[in-house]
Amino acid sequence: MSAEVVAVGAGLAGLAAAVAAAEGGARVTILEKRPEIGGSTVLSAGLSAFAGTDEQAVAGIADDPATLRRDLLETGRHRNDPALVEVYCSDQLATYRWLRGLGIVYGEVHAASGQSVPRSHPTDTRVLVRTLLDRARSLGAAFRPGTGAHRLIVEDGAVRGVRTTGGEELRADAVVLASGGFSRNPELLDRFAPRMGRALRGGAEGSTGDGLLMAWKAGAGVIDTPYIKGTFGIHPDPDGAEGGTGILAIYKGAIAVDRSGRRFVDESLPYKEVGDACLDRDGGIAFQIFDAAVMERSDPSVPIYDFAARTGNGLLHTAPTLAELARDIGVPADALEATVAEYNAAIESGRPDPFGRATLSGGVGAPVPIAVPPFYAHPSTAVVLATYCGLTIDPDMRVLDVFGEVIPGLYAAGEVVGGLHGAGYVTGTSIGKAAVFGRRAGLRAGAAA
Ligand SMILES: Cc1cc2nc3c(=O)[nH]c(=O)nc-3n(C[C@H](O)[C@H](O)[C@H](O)COP(=O)(O)OP(=O)(O)OC[C@H]3O[C@@H](n4cnc5c(N)ncnc54)[C@H](O)[C@@H]3O)c2cc1C
Repeated sequence: MSAEVVAVGAGLAGLAAAVAAAEGGARVTILEKRPEIGGSTVLSAGLSAFAGTDEQAVAGIADDPATLRRDLLETGRHRNDPALVEVYCSDQLATYRWLRGLGIVYGEVHAASGQSVPRSHPTDTRVLVRTLLDRARSLGAAFRPGTGAHRLIVEDGAVRGVRTTGGEELRADAVVLASGGFSRNPELLDRFAPRMGRALRGGAEGSTGDGLLMAWKAGAGVIDTPYIKGTFGIHPDPDGAEGGTGILAIYKGAIAVDRSGRRFVDESLPYKEVGDACLDRDGGIAFQIFDAAVMERSDPSVPIYDFAARTGNGLLHTAPTLAELARDIGVPADALEATVAEYNAAIESGRPDPFGRATLSGGVGAPVPIAVPPFYAHPSTAVVLATYCGLTIDPDMRVLDVFGEVIPGLYAAGEVVGGLHGAGYVTGTSIGKAAVFGRRAGLRAGAAA
């Protein structure tokens, strides 16, 4: 008899799990509490971290799972669960090929935080989730939009299904929790990450930690909560009109200065570390300062690098001189001019940067002087877009309890799980985690039941 699998959440992780389970012959039900699909996945910049892909080969980029593994462990300061890092590295290329096989297209590869080689593969996430949902349904999966999982059904220590928000009991051999993170749950954020009180809050409306709480009640362990961080680069617009991701001009050559007009951080660091440093500055605000040469590198296909789109919407300041730019954004003009002059002089003379900046981002690219007018300033702060920590799982995506023992019948994948990232974050490994772990969770849940 085929297994009954319930996937909780129709973001990337839940849909990947649903398709993989259905391809394995399981009977699948997908619950999504919101009327729409996609969760944080469709709000994201759509960058997936894969290594050894066709797009990298075309661009002449040498990359492989061993380099990816090293980047994940070094960026995560070896606080990652090595078994989950191993799963990610060993499964990622197969997952990429599987998605390509379903018709998913990736654009030009970019470098971003924590990557020793360019490895961020952009894709249209709306197409991604729609493709997976269509595929799941074509394999017979039932899709229940507007129906949330409310509680797990637990009998004799094993999970036997879920009770829905409407009070219905859905019995199942396996439940895959793929309900995303808790960036929209202020109480959980305050509990686990009080430092983020100054950060803005992003993520999808549905990211309220439901899966985490349901599994927690069933005895699940939780890991990596100290490493919740905000992402640098979002405009501190008090009306929240910004939405989305902000920009990371720092990775194309901008510097970051605080309200005193002075730099305060190595801008090539992962944007979560830059975010932490920014939140510690006066008002929790910084400015990304760049010139026309960086603007030339604007790329409309990658939201974090689409600087040009901001010239028309009031989010980006521009001026013919640094002094005028400084006055426009309210920082001391002499300080900003001196900061840029020192920065340029160090690059031109080959002197070490006082903050240790040696690259544009991660291990990629050489810093460039900021010299070609007009000049630009993007007010920036940090936003909690995703929570990175979560349930303890084993390499089969089975949820582990607080003593490290398997909770039978319960699987989890995507942002609801912890352990992969450790203390730092490699760009593209959240979308990557949702796809790679989601697919594996579906395969295992369907087979084990
Ligand atoms: C603006 C932004 C930019 C980002 N950019 C990137 C990027 O470029 N690269 C990257 O790797 N990561 C990025 N991230 C993070 C990444 O998007 C997420 O971590 C990832 O998409 C999570 O996928 P998921 O499937 O686990 O969760 P989600 O996509 O959030 O899906 C979870 C789904 O579960 C549903 N749900 C919740 N509770 C229940 C319940 N009780 N019952 C039923 N359904 C429920 C939610 O409504 C939602 O639809 C970004 C995030 C944001 C917000």
